[in-house]
Amino acid sequence: MLIQAPRGTKDVLPTESYRWQFIEQKMREAAALAGYREVRTPVFEHTELFARGVGDTTDIVQKEMYTFQDKGNRSITLKPEGTAGAARCFLESNLYADALPCKMYYLDAPIFRYEAPQSGRLREHHQFGLECFGAQGATADAELILLAYRLLSGLGIRNLSVNINSIGCPNCRPKYHGMLKDYLADRLDSLCEDCRGRFDRNPLRALDCKKPGCQAQVKDAPSMLDVLCDDCRAHFEELQACLKAEGIPFQVNSRIVRGLDYYTKTVFELITATEDGNLTVCGGGRYDHLVAQLGGPDLPAVGFGMGLERVLMLMDAEGIRIPDPKQYDVFVTYMGDHLPQAFHLVESLRKEGIRADMDHCGRSLKAQFKYANKTGAPLSATIGDDEAAAGSVKLKNMETREERTVPVGEAGATVREMLG
Ligand code: ATP
Ligand code: MG
Repeated sequence: MLIQAPRGTKDVLPTESYRWQFIEQKMREAAALAGYREVRTPVFEHTELFARGVGDTTDIVQKEMYTFQDKGNRSITLKPEGTAGAARCFLESNLYADALPCKMYYLDAPIFRYEAPQSGRLREHHQFGLECFGAQGATADAELILLAYRLLSGLGIRNLSVNINSIGCPNCRPKYHGMLKDYLADRLDSLCEDCRGRFDRNPLRALDCKKPGCQAQVKDAPSMLDVLCDDCRAHFEELQACLKAEGIPFQVNSRIVRGLDYYTKTVFELITATEDGNLTVCGGGRYDHLVAQLGGPDLPAVGFGMGLERVLMLMDAEGIRIPDPKQYDVFVTYMGDHLPQAFHLVESLRKEGIRADMDHCGRSLKAQFKYANKTGAPLSATIGDDEAAAGSVKLKNMETREERTVPVGEAGATVREMLG
């Protein structure tokens, strides 16, 4: 083996891609039910988009981006999150001139972050994300939280805890920043280097810092919820009323602030407890000024991102079985010189929409059956000397051993019958 995959990346093998396709299908259905349509944006963007959009005090922009100069000397960055690209696309294509809200989702979007690889943390991962542009109502926040919650519970993931918080808006947050800074100022020496570094411009981040030292220091910090302005308070209450009306369990957690600068008002995370501690599977919130920050109209918006690898990891941990579609419906075996007839049979079955195959490696009849068994094909179709002479084929159910010999022309219809 000369070259290995880069650290923190993971192949999806042909034998496991059905698991991805399964959850992707559920995600598409969930998005479509609420009117979200797919958007596809480039894997790379101008670095400036993330510096401006995500914010240069964030971990993502400070430490985690894959940034390089291209041959034209432009600074290019591989997407470290999905929202900035979606907002750029929304703006660039003037989608704000259409009737709002504009609802879009992206699926399987590769996201690149230079992180220390560990369980549930990769350098390339994939997200399902939804963005709703132009809706200021808390119903939009609530529908996203519900969509994520129902999707994940529908996939069988239990013990989901829905955490919501409001981090206010440019009217009320500066006051809170002041209060929090006063509180943290005395404790600065006990905070980690990162929290000290962003103390001036983004003190909020100390609240969700994962380092135990910082967590201990912020335990009794003042809460943003106590200083929300009337507008933010009413919005947060409406959100809770909607969630209560739907009866989903949630908790207000004033420690959730999210890592990205663009958030305003609602932020939320869906968290599950695993053997290795808490795992956030979905995170999102409102970003009412991101579009304006990118040079567009001042339009409210809300969205979330959900990590596909983490969804699959949780499903694995809970032992949820994803139905494995067998590779073939029928495997064609043949004797000696009846290869052309066998090949023709395979192709005619495929023309009828039946997933069929035959040996391509010169195996004996016995070895062909052994291989057919290995593929898990429920049926075999054999052309031996007798069948070749009579223009027929012998179909066999590999499990029940039921056999039927029929004219080749009826093979497709009989296969369908035998498959039930
Ligand atoms: P964390 O706190 O775990 O670092 P985050 O706040 O950086 O997460 P977001 O930017 O909100 O994560 O990304 C949305 C979702 O994408 C996360 O909830 C998670 O499911 C997934 N995710 C984020 N980073 C990674 C990663 N490095 N590897 C795998 N999945 C990830
Ligand atoms: Mg992170």
